[in-house]
Amino acid sequence: QLPIIYIITPTNNRVETQLADLTRMRNTLWLVPKIVWILIEDSTFKTPKITKFLKESQLSYVHLSEQTPDDLIIRSNEKTWSKPRGVLQRNKGIDWLRENSKDIDSNGVIFFADDDNTYDIRLFEEIRYTQKVSVWPVAFVGELMYERPICKNGKVTGWFRSWGDSRPFPIDMAGFAINLRLLLAHPSARFSNLVQRGMQESHLLSHLISVNELEPKADNCTKIFVWHTNTRKILRFGEKRLQQMNLKYDQ
Ligand code: UDP
Ligand code: MN
Repeated sequence: QLPIIYIITPTNNRVETQLADLTRMRNTLWLVPKIVWILIEDSTFKTPKITKFLKESQLSYVHLSEQTPDDLIIRSNEKTWSKPRGVLQRNKGIDWLRENSKDIDSNGVIFFADDDNTYDIRLFEEIRYTQKVSVWPVAFVGELMYERPICKNGKVTGWFRSWGDSRPFPIDMAGFAINLRLLLAHPSARFSNLVQRGMQESHLLSHLISVNELEPKADNCTKIFVWHTNTRKILRFGEKRLQQMNLKYDQ
């Protein structure tokens, strides 16, 4: 009996690219057994577009929504990293797991997978048997080709990273997975819009574990199984123009 991987994905309505990102991710997840995709829309309601998308995917999924408050929405003249992203949405996913803890696989694993990253399907088999918290390299973060834990004899002994020396866990959101039982045992473990920039991962993990207990994956953290790719604004025109194109874009 394979443990279930609960994949928590916040998704923002980036007008042109959301469906492209989610399609790429869905195609990946089609190749992975025993997963539940917890998709949280950044919206006050579950949109028909994503409802239809999920239904047609035939994946095992949970559809939620949670809107980013106005003052935390990133404006087009602001840097994308100027404000936290996806925090309340990920918390909504965590809350769902807590609320449904009786009905879910307590041997399961949680992985926070943003909608625009690139995932090698071998990653999922690496993390499926996470005892507490597992870690691995993530490509394209911190202005490096990759960030990674440095490992010796199956323990994390240091970090290869370019910024944030004060981070207790200098690791990207896509660079760790948590055993579900461990998360459920710590009710205060969640993300927060109040922590310093770049500290989300450290904030959560500090509730759960210390560095010497981390479980290195991906061949002692020497292989890249996830890339922090980013969707650029591709079209210069908005939704209005898309409607003018006589295409059923919002399928
Ligand atoms: N996101 C969101 N609301 C926002 C901005 C982003 O739900 O206002 C989601 C987005 O869809 C993605 C995750 O949060 O799954 C991280 O956002 P993004 O990819 O923009 O951040 P970055 O990769 O630059 O850290
Ligand atoms: Mn991203």
